[in-house]
Amino acid sequence: MSDPFVCARCAAKGPTCCELTPGCEEVCFPVSDYERERILECVPDSGGFVLQVNTPVFIENMFTLFPGQRRKVKELFPPGGTHYRLEVDFGGKCLFLGSKGCIIPKKARPLYCRLFPFWMDANGRITLLEVITCLAQQENKTPGKLFKALGITQSEVRELHSQLRVAWGFYPHADD
Ligand code: SF4
Ligand code: SF4
Repeated sequence: MSDPFVCARCAAKGPTCCELTPGCEEVCFPVSDYERERILECVPDSGGFVLQVNTPVFIENMFTLFPGQRRKVKELFPPGGTHYRLEVDFGGKCLFLGSKGCIIPKKARPLYCRLFPFWMDANGRITLLEVITCLAQQENKTPGKLFKALGITQSEVRELHSQLRVAWGFYPHADD
């Protein structure tokens, strides 16, 4: 059953996927120019991004997200280069997080945020980014229930992941 309030209930309990552990900001996913421009069109003058160095920890995390594509990851995110990420406050909360949730309209949010907690593996299968604090994952132990609870379909996950890959500079499909 769809559960439109699961993320609000998660936020009331905390922490949510909109928060990073302070000190771990470098592992935040990148936000491409395309995504930043779309956000800034909807929330002008908002700031909310910082330039982040491609540290070894960040690159290792990207290798995990894109297995088998180490060369492409290094080409897109060379060691010592930079990328934009979301800015967080001292407590690790994303600056776009308002009292009623994300202030960015859903269609313009970073693609990673729209996909979370879903991802796709190197064989084009939908997988989960397992996060123990995610209330939706705690309450919905089968993929089918989780899709329903978060109000997303498998084809939407595939489409969003393809859009994300293109926005970040990869080929459109996980097995390309
Ligand atoms: S951009 Fe919005 S959805 Fe993404 S982490 Fe920030 S507040 Fe959460
Ligand atoms: S996706 Fe999971 S971690 Fe993120 S707000 Fe919803 S329930 Fe919480």
